Amino acid sequence: MLLEVKDITAHYFKVPAIRNISITVDDGEIVALIGSNGAGKTTTLRAISGLKHPTTGEIHFKGQRIDKLPPHKINALGIAMVPEGRRVFPQMTVLENLLMGAFLRKEKDAIQKDLDELVFRHFPRLKERTAQAAGTLSGGEQQMLAMGRALMSAPKLLLLDEPSLGLSPIMCGEIGKIIMNIHTEGRTVILVEQNARLALGLAQHAYVIETGDIALSGPAKELRENDDVKKAYLGG
Ligand code: ATP
Repeated sequence: MLLEVKDITAHYFKVPAIRNISITVDDGEIVALIGSNGAGKTTTLRAISGLKHPTTGEIHFKGQRIDKLPPHKINALGIAMVPEGRRVFPQMTVLENLLMGAFLRKEKDAIQKDLDELVFRHFPRLKERTAQAAGTLSGGEQQMLAMGRALMSAPKLLLLDEPSLGLSPIMCGEIGKIIMNIHTEGRTVILVEQNARLALGLAQHAYVIETGDIALSGPAKELRENDDVKKAYLGG
């Protein structure tokens, strides 16, 4: 097991946003978290990446307890998050944004290699636009840049928060393919999505989060066939 989230609860101003959430992620799989607005999906990702420390419960990554570590230490251990809404640095160029992702790394040759062989291979569009200000990229390109920036920290586990949000169906398909490619080369992904159809199509396992609790979990294939999931998240 690569990641184990054990019974975590997290609060904002004494109000619980998630309650007793447990999730396990195996090495190399895509795990989807689906659920409606405000269910607690983002809070779960923030807890894993160290941006929101859980009030109770534990998180273990590669056998090490991480739930009290600051975000930069968690990133250095191999977890990178792509936040909802991309949040690229708009005035900086594409290349500068990508290099920001590697700011904790020291090995210059490996950084250059990841830029050429990892990021530009998955995102050839970014290579054509290295000198362009990130704020002038299209929504889909900004999503690619945010994902490329996260990959520049050479993560073992990638946390994606709503990568399809606001994108055209064609661009959603393109991002979906890239997530699949990233998975195929051995990286592990936790995918938070409102687009349950996309998420359940990509993932091996999935969790349905409803008002801070896990309502349902299992193989993605089974959840796709589940009547409640169909009704609530797949449009009947
Ligand atoms: P969405 O898909 O809308 O982003 P989500 O499933 O990711 O939803 P969260 O963002 O984790 O849900 O929010 C869970 C609950 O925590 C919500 O009730 C939300 O209002 C609350 N919450 C989230 N962030 C904060 C914050 N910074 N301060 C106070 N409450 C917050």
